[in-house]
This record gives sequence, C-alpha cells and structure tokens, in this order.
Amino acid sequence: MSKNKSIIKTGWNLDHSYLQLPGAFYTRLNPTPVSAPTLVLFNDPLARSLGLDADALDGEEGAAIFSGNHLPEGAQPLAQAYAGHQFGHFTILGDGRAHLLGEQITPSGERYDIQLKGSGQTPYSRRGDGRAALGPMLREYIISEAMHALGIPTTRSLAVVTTGDPVFRETVLPGSILTRVAASHLRVGTFEFAARTRTIDELRSLADYTIQRHYPGVETSENPYLGLLQEVIKRQAVLIARWQLVGFIHGVMNTDNMALSGETIDYGPCAFMDTYSPDTVFSSIDHQGRYAYGNQPYMGAWNLTRFAETLLPLLHPDQPRAVTLAQDALAEYSALYQRHWLEGMTAKLGLFTQETDDESLVQELLKMMQDHGADYTNTFLVLTFAETENTPMSDTTEFQQWLAKWQARRARQEQPIAAAQKLMRDNNPAVIPRNHQVEAALETAWKENDPGPLHRLLAVLEKPYAHTPEQAAYAAPPAPNTRPYQTYCGT
Ligand code: AMP
Ligand code: MG
Repeated sequence: MSKNKSIIKTGWNLDHSYLQLPGAFYTRLNPTPVSAPTLVLFNDPLARSLGLDADALDGEEGAAIFSGNHLPEGAQPLAQAYAGHQFGHFTILGDGRAHLLGEQITPSGERYDIQLKGSGQTPYSRRGDGRAALGPMLREYIISEAMHALGIPTTRSLAVVTTGDPVFRETVLPGSILTRVAASHLRVGTFEFAARTRTIDELRSLADYTIQRHYPGVETSENPYLGLLQEVIKRQAVLIARWQLVGFIHGVMNTDNMALSGETIDYGPCAFMDTYSPDTVFSSIDHQGRYAYGNQPYMGAWNLTRFAETLLPLLHPDQPRAVTLAQDALAEYSALYQRHWLEGMTAKLGLFTQETDDESLVQELLKMMQDHGADYTNTFLVLTFAETENTPMSDTTEFQQWLAKWQARRARQEQPIAAAQKLMRDNNPAVIPRNHQVEAALETAWKENDPGPLHRLLAVLEKPYAHTPEQAAYAAPPAPNTRPYQTYCGT
C-alpha cells in the first residue's frame, strides 16, 4: 500500500533494461550527495508527459531527487561504460560524471532514460571531479529545449539544480546537476567499447539490445545487424540535415557524442550560427575546425564509418564480405543527407515541388549570404515576410536577380502564394537561441540572481514558428563589433 502511494505521489515508473546487458557495460553506483540542493529550473510539461507528478516535484522534493540526494522510487543507479574517438583519437571513456537512475516508462508506454549529469565521480571519471558548473547546465537546458521546439530530435532537460558546493574550473563556480531525458544513452562509442574490449558475444548482446530498444523493425530482417547499421545511418543523415537547416553547430561530434537513437546529445560547446559561413566554429578547443558548420555532414559520415567497423564481425562471418556490406550501407549516407537537406532548404524557400535547378538556387543564396556577411536565420525571415530591403545584400544586382529567379520559380508551382508563405513560416524559425542572448540571460540568472530574462528567453524559444511580436526582439543578431563568440567544453 505505501509503495503504491509513493508511485501515485510522484509517478516514478522506473525500469532497468540496461541491467540485462553484460556487466562490463556499466557500474552500479549511487550519485554522491551534495550539500544544499536547490531547484533552479524544472520542466513542468516534460515531467507531465513522462507521467511524473509535476506539482510534487517542483520544489524541495524535486531538488532532493534531481540532485541525487534522494533516489526516486525504484531507482537503480548506474554509470555506463563507453569509448570514443575524440577529435579523431580513440579513448576509453564512460560516464565520468553521470548516473542513470533508470528508464521511465511513460503512461503511453514509451521508455526514457532519466540521467543525472554532474552527480559525482564514477570509475570512469579519469581525472575529472564528476561535477558540473551551473552555466553549462543551464545552457544545455536552454539549447536542448530550443532544439526540441524546433522539431529536431534531441535529448531533453527535465531539471537543473544547484548543489551548494563549489566547482573549481579556471575560477570557482556554483556546482550544478542537470537531469537529462533521452531515448537512450547508447552511443557509437558504446559499440566501440564493445568491439575493442569485449567478446563478440558481448558485442552481439549490445547490438540485440539496441535493435530491441530503437529499431525493432529490423529484428525479423534477413541480416538484422545490417538493418541496424542502415537505420542508424538514416537517422543520422536526417538529424544532421536538420542541424544544418537551422544553423546548429554541435561543436564536439566525437563518436561518444553520437547517439544511436538519432537524437542530438551532449550539449557542450554547441552554438547557433549567426552570419552564414560554412567554416564557423565556436568551440575554443576546435583549432582545426574539424567540427565546423560545413564539416558536420562529413563528420557524421566519419562517425558512422567507425560504427560500421564495430559491426563487422556481426555483419558476415567472411570479413571481406562484411566490409562490402558495410561500405554499401555507408555509401547511402550522402544521398540520404543531401535529399533531406534539399527538401528542407526548398521548404524554407516556400517550394512544394522539385526542379533540377533548385539546388543551385539554394547555393546561390548561401553564397551571397556568405559574401555579404548576412545573418543565416534572418535572411530566411526577410524572404518569408517579403522584407527583402532588410539584408546586407539588398542593394546588389545579384540579389535582385536572384529574387526575380526565386519568385519566378515559386510562381511555377500550382500552390498559391499564401500557401508558400505558410510553408516558409513553418520552416523558418522566428527565433533561435542566439549566443549573445543566451549568455546575457545566464549572466543575469546566475550573477545577479535574477531568473526573469532566462524564463523570458525560454518562453520565446518554446514556439519558434509562432512568429509573435515578442519574438522579433530576439531576432537581433549580435552587434557587428562583438568579439567572436567562443564556447567551452566539458565544464
Ligand atoms: P564530453 O566532452 O562532455 O562528451 O565528455 C567527455 C568525457 O569526459 C565523458 O566520458 C565525460 O563523462 C567525461 N567528463 C567530462 N567532464 C567531467 C568531469 N567534470 N568529471 C569527470 N568526468 C568528466
Ligand atoms: Mg560526451
């Protein structure tokens, strides 16, 4: 009876399918308690969709649970083992500062990992302190929720707490924990860990588990492991195309940061591009531009190749045959990516139909944006709302010629102009989480102890395709003389 009461009270319904994997894939351990947990952000609608009692959790009880001080009903915390290629170099990693509490089964029967990030050291911490600072956790909350609102597959953020304990980085910062909700935390790096350090049977268990959890449709196919590879490739092609369409730069596309579910994961040095330029990099540690905006599709292919390599022993007993199967699957990626990207781009231009010259129409526009330092998001808004005098390219003949060509192209489709404008509104966000605005909101929230601007920013990011008057204020790009924005990793 008392057990039922507690389930009714907060709605936890945790399952632990990950524990069915061989023991080498995880270590069971509890989060390290913190001194004085305080709930800073709580995602009420997300909590409700998970079947949690949002009212009961939005306060002290939530602070205790989302800090790791109290385990929710049925939790069996663990840290996951994985590996990864970081900037091209293989390393053994694992959750160095995260604890999976369990998998919440929602009222509609979906399964979501509930993970604390910044919750203390684990056997995989290497030299890290297992902790996280408030700024980056708030940033992950804002950007992951903005990505979700933009319609892009992503892990979600349920809560941010401060711990009451300092963390020591370049300066002393307030300690914090983020509660992350994910379809799973299976990564390309989880397979690299299995392939490099475990037996083939253990690798197979992992592959079977991944299929069961994310791709049950391939279970009955002739070669389910090839099916798994093909499906992961498809989802990544779609995901990265969608990043490109909104100007999202992940910043650290290491193989441990590529989720097999096809969700965007691990918001570290990520940021949205303002001025269009394919070589845009924000991360302070990405000196070579490996993860620059324009490189993301290629890095996706690179990571998928690492994934395919791990599957070779499962694809076919004859290695050359396995390699051919993997190569054929990988060869599909660029066409899949290109198709999704072009479909998205033409929708941004209000085009319902396809014509052979559409890609050059898009490329010409992008080239002009780059040459004239135009803002990526706002250029599409200017086209959407026919305010074409408002771009740095407006006075150029090439832009005027391009506009004429685009309008003629739009007129060649049977859909009325109003339908094209609606398509554009639905595909061109009024607002993205711009770095300068995110930083300003974080600064006020955390240094001046005023969460008002942060909540207002979160509210305008919730419906990016609404195009409300309040959103217009957030569309402003940074002042031209602002020093190039840099983001920092792993803090
Ligand atoms: P990331 O750059 O966030 O993908 O992290 C790379 C690896 O470093 C992962 O294995 C993390 O768990 C680990 N890591 C990052 N920060 C810390 C920290 N403060 N303490 C322990 N491990 C960490
Ligand atoms: Mg990571």
